[in-house]
Amino acid sequence: PGADAPGSPTPPPPTPLDVDAIRAQFPILCKPLPNGKTLTYLDSGATAQKPTVVLDAMRDCFETYYSNVHRGKSTLGRLVTKAVEASREDCRRFLNAADVSEILFTAGTTAGLNLVAQTWGRANICEGDVIATTVLEHHANLVPWQMLAKETGAELRFLPLTDDGRVDMDRVDEALTDRCKLLAITACSNVLGTLPDVKALCDAARAVGAVSVVDAAQFVPHRRTDVRAWGCDFLVFGAHKLYGPTGVGVLYGKRELLDAMPPWQGGGNMISRVFADRSEWAEPPAKFEAGTPPIGEIVGLGAAVRWVEDLGWEALEAHDRELAAYLLERLEEVPGLTVYGPAANERAALASFTVDGAAAEDLNFLLDKRGIAVRHGHHCTMPLHDLLGVPATTRASLGVYNRAADVDELIEALLAARIRLR
Ligand code: PLP
Repeated sequence: PGADAPGSPTPPPPTPLDVDAIRAQFPILCKPLPNGKTLTYLDSGATAQKPTVVLDAMRDCFETYYSNVHRGKSTLGRLVTKAVEASREDCRRFLNAADVSEILFTAGTTAGLNLVAQTWGRANICEGDVIATTVLEHHANLVPWQMLAKETGAELRFLPLTDDGRVDMDRVDEALTDRCKLLAITACSNVLGTLPDVKALCDAARAVGAVSVVDAAQFVPHRRTDVRAWGCDFLVFGAHKLYGPTGVGVLYGKRELLDAMPPWQGGGNMISRVFADRSEWAEPPAKFEAGTPPIGEIVGLGAAVRWVEDLGWEALEAHDRELAAYLLERLEEVPGLTVYGPAANERAALASFTVDGAAAEDLNFLLDKRGIAVRHGHHCTMPLHDLLGVPATTRASLGVYNRAADVDELIEALLAARIRLR
């Protein structure tokens, strides 16, 4: 800048996502449903659709170089091991982890959380300790801690929430006391879309000597994740909400914690030496990867991660914010509709709601008949629904392939359903 340039230049806005070009990469969005309707997919929070690059990468693995991984030095063995380890490096970069040995492949988010509870948890949680969490959590980030608390005699405590479903940062010390040994927190609520301040919460956990576990299952498709910026100790996500396949996910763990904690499942690959009466463990990540992994799915996960990164985080996040704002604005037009959770600028592009006089199940039925896929029920968050005072909600959850027109379809269908159900 010249001498008289006022301050630093404002960076140009990101080039918007080309949503039509993105949609063209999802075969399921480009053809009619089996019932002849056009699909309006608003259920990415349950599972996202898969782009051709992911399907092709998996097909190429199975058709070209499939064999077992980490076994022998055959041509196929070398190729498949290279592909699996390349996916591990993709995941390391995606999370900004320091080292590939901190990236463990699991069967998904649920498996990753149970692994932490049953290895680090059993080895470190004792009677009288506190496990802190929130009522926002999916059952996958609550039930394993309930089980651990019951087994060890630890106490489960909940961080207070504000009325609009955000973590009340002024009251975190009610759960994060010096008895607290572990904080398990979602980075994005699958019902309210709330985005807790994960860095501040991990800092607060560390300040009382607690380890932090972040459930990023819903966060990773909406915002860039950075485990080192957050300073979290563990983080989990699954591939299938990130445009990748089911049956595979990642557990990130700080290397010193992985070194110190016992393995979970025993079997092949996780050992360095087996004697008749005892075994010695392999180094992480192999120490936590017993048995044959989901090979083609790991390859698909790597392809999904690269595909999302290639879209560009700035553009992806801007698109997500615009969709969230438009969704909340238009939902207000439906009489008798209540949206739960924070304002649009405090959430990812998803919303759960109820409509006076219309059961969530009936709404779902009428939307489905028009080709609109949403989800109804408690979304694996019964305690949160108890807090909201409703047994079930309808959730619209959006992804990179959604447009304002999809929200318009939803609103039109909700207005029509209200009249039908009156
Ligand atoms: N955590 C959150 C926030 C979720 O939304 C989900 C799935 O909906 C899970 C955990 C569990 O993921 P999975 O069933 O893929 O293991």
